[in-house]
Amino acid sequence: MIIIKTKEEIEILREGGKRLATVLYKVRDIIKPGISTKDLDDYAFKLIKEMGDEPAFLNYRPEGADSPFPASLCVSVNNEVVHGIPDAKRILKEGDIVSIDLGLKHKGLFTDMALTAGVGEVSNSSIKLMKATEDALKVGIAVSQGGNRIGDIGFAIENFVRKYRYGIVEVLSGHGVGKKVHEDPYIPNFGKSGTGAKLVPGMVIALEPMLNNGTKNVILDEDGWTFRTADGKKSAHFEHTILITEGEPEILTKI
Ligand code: MG
Repeated sequence: MIIIKTKEEIEILREGGKRLATVLYKVRDIIKPGISTKDLDDYAFKLIKEMGDEPAFLNYRPEGADSPFPASLCVSVNNEVVHGIPDAKRILKEGDIVSIDLGLKHKGLFTDMALTAGVGEVSNSSIKLMKATEDALKVGIAVSQGGNRIGDIGFAIENFVRKYRYGIVEVLSGHGVGKKVHEDPYIPNFGKSGTGAKLVPGMVIALEPMLNNGTKNVILDEDGWTFRTADGKKSAHFEHTILITEGEPEILTKI
């Protein structure tokens, strides 16, 4: 069931989204060679707690998962697509790209955001991959207007990505968000225009294209969480939580 948020809930989500973006950009700013993925997680946890909020992913256990997620921040390096588990022994090095994905619970309501950043100097192909993924998210946001349909979002993203030789991850998707971390509807990053549920003002959704610099196929690691590209090539991920309106959507996860 798709939940339409009330004015009061939207106000809370707007504040939560602002706080989440503030935290995620601060975490991005400390990414550098020599830092561990656990350092990034610790910093995100500390910043969220200082604000009086809760990290949404810590101990989050979706249906079907064998174990709860053990950290606040998902940190996915290079060929890891999403849901990488922070590790004190995992040290970032020059040329890596790192995706950081964070959920925040503010006054009982959830927002969700992700970005990918380079560690020190990165290759041109990595820069191009990250830029295309961020642009794919913008393209998806642009068509997320009241009256359009879920399929219009996937279609727009797929159509945009076609001019690159990137794989669009299909087994993971965007989603409704707010009362829970993941709500209906699910929003694939590919699809047919004019299909799926209608977007209605008051809906809050998280769009999150994941692009691979190779095959679209991914493999779930033995840890039960980390998704990797099947061919070992790099992957990027950008995500915003947005509010559907009559016209242009409002990005909630912004400063
Ligand atoms: Mg998400």
